[in-house]
Amino acid sequence: MLPQKRGRIPSRIAMNCCWKVLAIFLLLLPSALSLQPAQSRVLLVSFDGFRWDYIYKVSTPNFHYAMENGVHVKQVTNVFITKTYPNHYTMVTGLYAESHGIVANEMYDPILNETFSLNKMDTHNSRFWEEASPIWVTNQREGHKTGAAMWPGTDVKIHGFFPTHYMPYNESVSFEDRVARLIDWFTSEEPINFGLLYWEQPDEMGHILGPENPLMGPIISDIDQKLGYLMSELKKAKLWGVINVIITSDHGMSQLSSERLIELDQYVNRELYKVIEHSPAVAILPNEGKLDEVYETLANAHPNMTVYKKEQIPDRLHYKHNRKIQPILAVADKGWEIVYNKSDGFQFGNHGYDNILPEMHPIFLAVGPAFRKNATKEVMNATDIYPLLCHLLGINALPNNGSFNAVKDILAEEVPVVFGADTYATIVGVFLGSFLVIVFIAVFVKHFIFTQLNTMQVQHTEAAQPLLQD
Ligand SMILES: [Zn+2]
Repeated sequence: MLPQKRGRIPSRIAMNCCWKVLAIFLLLLPSALSLQPAQSRVLLVSFDGFRWDYIYKVSTPNFHYAMENGVHVKQVTNVFITKTYPNHYTMVTGLYAESHGIVANEMYDPILNETFSLNKMDTHNSRFWEEASPIWVTNQREGHKTGAAMWPGTDVKIHGFFPTHYMPYNESVSFEDRVARLIDWFTSEEPINFGLLYWEQPDEMGHILGPENPLMGPIISDIDQKLGYLMSELKKAKLWGVINVIITSDHGMSQLSSERLIELDQYVNRELYKVIEHSPAVAILPNEGKLDEVYETLANAHPNMTVYKKEQIPDRLHYKHNRKIQPILAVADKGWEIVYNKSDGFQFGNHGYDNILPEMHPIFLAVGPAFRKNATKEVMNATDIYPLLCHLLGINALPNNGSFNAVKDILAEEVPVVFGADTYATIVGVFLGSFLVIVFIAVFVKHFIFTQLNTMQVQHTEAAQPLLQD
């Protein structure tokens, strides 16, 4: 009896080990297959000057299709000043303008004694951008690839980085060509995980026509068709429903009138100051020793213009602590324009006003596997877009003025893992590899048990013989 008992012990231990190995494997398999952390691919799209309520002005079936399939945030508070460059840089840094340093479309740096001008396309001086580090720099430092189609700042070397792929800014490149490049980058052998797409409209026509002009209808319809084109191309490339797409803008637009002009020449001698950034948030650089004189003549000049010395700018605007913010800021009320005099050119639409005004707020939609479907959220801040993007990309957010917690409710409860062809290959590889390991262990254990049993039987026979002789 003894040898039989002793023979069962190694057999049980071996079988237990085998079952344990199998159980651990089965427990670990799902997590091994679940794409490690929540990394996904993201496309960030900006239609410049697309006001939040344009989708209700005319039929916009493609925007509504995206809303039904994703999340719509009704009011996004962008940053002051509500201009193009400051807000595009906020979306990719999570910082207020005073912190990321792109404080206006037109800037003067008194330390560098250098200027920056969107109007003159003089925007490539890295030093204006390097107070912050945009998301593509972090993305690439963490080993990923970025592709940018005309997004402001993406053709500038910032902290030694360009995006992995980018298009030098050229307004004449069509929307379709920009989309084609992005899809190439998302589907190449070494794909990007993050794409940025910028389109100049409906901002340009909003300035020319004014947002309340009925002729804006066809302009908005055209943007809707462009969104439809983007979605259909993503579907053709099998990226729709796989990548996460955020469709937003930098600011809205207010209707102007030739009846609502504030003429600086009526109040102060033009020889005493320079205008750095233009209406409706006018950055004024007084000549040396003329600060008080210029300020005092303008301070109560017009009931629809608020004039601040830099240190008086309200904290809620987060627009004070930067050397590129000029000594005097004059801000027009909604719908008013600040000019030298009436002979200046006139436009029917503008933006740049207080970011508390809904007319300054952009559209925001988010569609893709990470987001809830047919969901709405009332409010968010544009600074929250950056931590949201970092979460989606699975990269570390740098210190910022946004909050991921403030927007995590737009995410689906559990982010579905969408497998690409590569992932399927990985899964099959892991499964087959694991299967072979188990078969090997089973064969080895079986062989080990038989060897042990045979050895023990021989030993028992040898040990038993003397006893029998007794
Ligand atoms: Zn504009």
